[in-house]
Amino acid sequence: MKNFFIISGSSGSGKTTLLELLSRDLNIEISVSFTTRNKREYEIDGVHYHFISEDKFNEMIKDNKFLEFETVHGDLYGTALESLSKYIDNNKLLFLELDVNGAISLMNHYPERTVSIFLSPPNIEELRKRLEIRSTETDTEINKRLSRFQEEDNLKKEFDHKLINDNFETTFENIKNIIEKHKNEDLNGS
Ligand code: 5GP
Repeated sequence: MKNFFIISGSSGSGKTTLLELLSRDLNIEISVSFTTRNKREYEIDGVHYHFISEDKFNEMIKDNKFLEFETVHGDLYGTALESLSKYIDNNKLLFLELDVNGAISLMNHYPERTVSIFLSPPNIEELRKRLEIRSTETDTEINKRLSRFQEEDNLKKEFDHKLINDNFETTFENIKNIIEKHKNEDLNGS
């Protein structure tokens, strides 16, 4: 049964907003990762992320708490096994927003559970514009994120579905259709 829907793609490809709306519309929860990055003003600890110190993160690594973790743009991000256990036990649907490497780790870990979607921005200039409009990062941080773009794009072939997010409504509907299709397949036992 496919119950982990992983959304990945370059920073600024619109993943977070899309996921929040899809989560509400489809009544599917979003996995809460652990991170050492600073909290943005609008974010809520325990809702958007569990914001923890580097020491605490390293302690969790040592205690084998993470299914996967990655350094993304200089900060640590990870998915704890404990966060997923109730979704595993009950086959409950869950969205996960992960960087490309984390997404591939999870797909390899749970090939029978995961459906992976790679979301590309229409082009790199569009991506820069989106990051600048968001203005939650400094110029150096923006450049760091953009240089990762090519690296991430090279791995998109690993994903089940590849979408270009040039129109919010279309992408929203496309993801919704992917989920509905998998739900029906599971119901029909195929
Ligand atoms: P942001 O700092 O913009 O919230 O996220 C930066 C990147 O980290 C995004 O690409 C996001 O998908 C990724 N990310 C968030 N949580 C996790 C996680 O638990 N594991 C991995 N591997 N990546 C994550």
